[in-house]
Amino acid sequence: MTTDAWDDPLLLTPGPLTTSDTTKAAMLHDWGSRDTRFIEMTARVRRRLLELVSATDDHVCVPIQGSGTFAIEATLGTLIPDDGKLLVLVNGAYGRRMAKICDYHNRPYEVIETPEDVPCDPDTLEQALNQDPDVTHVAVVHCETTSGILNPLDGVADVVSRQGRALIVDAMSSFGAIEIDARKLPFDAVIASSNKCLEGVPGIGFAVVRRSALERCEGNAPSLSLDLYEQWLGLESNGQWRFTPPTQVLAALDQALVELRDEGGVSARGARYTSNAMTLMAGMREIGFVSALNEEDQAPIILTFLTPADPKFDFNQFYDLLRERGFLIYPGKLTEADTFRVGCIGQVWEDDVLAVLDEMRAALVTMGVTSCAPVPA
Ligand SMILES: *Cc1c(COP(=O)(O)O)cnc(C)c1O
Repeated sequence: MTTDAWDDPLLLTPGPLTTSDTTKAAMLHDWGSRDTRFIEMTARVRRRLLELVSATDDHVCVPIQGSGTFAIEATLGTLIPDDGKLLVLVNGAYGRRMAKICDYHNRPYEVIETPEDVPCDPDTLEQALNQDPDVTHVAVVHCETTSGILNPLDGVADVVSRQGRALIVDAMSSFGAIEIDARKLPFDAVIASSNKCLEGVPGIGFAVVRRSALERCEGNAPSLSLDLYEQWLGLESNGQWRFTPPTQVLAALDQALVELRDEGGVSARGARYTSNAMTLMAGMREIGFVSALNEEDQAPIILTFLTPADPKFDFNQFYDLLRERGFLIYPGKLTEADTFRVGCIGQVWEDDVLAVLDEMRAALVTMGVTSCAPVPA
């Protein structure tokens, strides 16, 4: 169990997540945004984020104030020029959100949609790109947190690169836990945020961008504050953020990145999350819950379960009973099926997973639920 001095519930959600006490404590200071200490902290965090994807001098890391969506909106707005066209691979809410951003930006786009429990398909993408030479950029969500499904990033990147287009990856819920290697994976941008697998607090999004691509992006962005090019220029010129930075959030991320390194880096963190996910899946199956995804498509980030058909099962009551016992789970987000989700990420360890499984069994007894089988499809 985490020894949480604040006695907060454990967040078994897609983020914000339970952070370590030391990461929280790192925020108990004030920093001048234009002071050397803060400038150094910014440089250190940007460098460490690049290291996490093995990026060299060919890439730059541009942080931006706000949640993950702010970074996605800034990246799409900055990288896709007026005469560009985006193709979005959609199998959940976050893919749909990128299409919606294009609506706001008045950028032309196409969508290839697969059902929410089906990974996107590189072959279908290749056919679409063959037929549409106007597409300049392709966007894919690495782990679609809507369901927790893992999309075939390598296969998508192969096709996009072979077709001479640029790839933009929403790696929000995978960055820091599922390996992405900038030396092997051709991409123009990989986007993530401080508060998911990096186990920082919310308030900073960032993109790792191919330098040669970003250099061509002056004047593209339809927004003043969400202009990744100008943000980068500012950081490069004097090391400072263009507008007031979330100083405490950066300090927490700085500490969280030290803790990620101490844990053993991306592979060790991924291994802990995988072990959490496997224990959780096995335990919930044993209770009788049914996963919404095929096992082979599941990322070790968040699990989605079909709501039991037993009329005595009430998600809100289940949620409240677990909440009283110190665990927060998450409602479902699938459009087709009635589901709920349980996260595997953050400062969550084997003992925590075993404890929440015990509390789930107790909650089901309290509710009088005898079967967790879902409504037959
Ligand atoms: C969390 C998340 C986002 C960003 O959501 P915010 O609420 O803006 O932080 C985007 N894409 C994916 C896949 C996510 O998991």
